[in-house]
Amino acid sequence: MVRRSVMVAGGLALLFAPVGLRTTPSFSVPFPCGQTWMGATRTSHLPPHAIDFNRLGDRDDAVVASEDGTVEVVDVADENYGGLVVIDHGDGWQTYSAHLDTITVSEGEEVERNDVIGTVGSTGRSDGPHLHYEQRLNGRAMRTVFHARETPSQITRPYTTPAC
Ligand SMILES: [Zn+2]
Repeated sequence: MVRRSVMVAGGLALLFAPVGLRTTPSFSVPFPCGQTWMGATRTSHLPPHAIDFNRLGDRDDAVVASEDGTVEVVDVADENYGGLVVIDHGDGWQTYSAHLDTITVSEGEEVERNDVIGTVGSTGRSDGPHLHYEQRLNGRAMRTVFHARETPSQITRPYTTPAC
C-alpha cells in the first residue's frame, strides 16, 4: 500500500495517511515501450496544459493508455479533437488523447496501462499528425505529470517510454 506524509494547516504532520486524499495517478508517456517522442507545451495551447507529441513518420503509430482506467468517451469526429478517446482513471482524473486516426477501444471498456487505444492522426482541428494529450482533474486540464515528473511549460523536449 502506498503511504505518504501530509502536512496540514498548523504544521501538524499526519504520517501514514491513507491514499484517497488528492493524489495524482502515476501516468506514463502514452506510447509503447522503447520509444522517444518530442513533447511540446506552450501557453497558446488549448487548454494551456495540453501536450502535443510528435516523432518522425508518426502517422498511424500506436497510442497507448497512460494508466489503468475505463474508456469514458469515444468520439470519431469531434470538431476540435477529431478522433478522441477519454479515459476515466478514478478520483476525478481523466486523460484525453486526440486527433487519432483510428480508435481501437469502445466506451465502457476497461483498459490497462500500455494497452493500445488508437493510432496517431491529424483529425479535427489539426494541421499535421500528432498526439494531443491532456490530463484532467475534475474537468480541468492540469500540468501533465509523467513517471512522477511534472512537465515544464513552454518547452519542447524528448520523452522516452520505459525500455521493453
Ligand atoms: Zn494540441
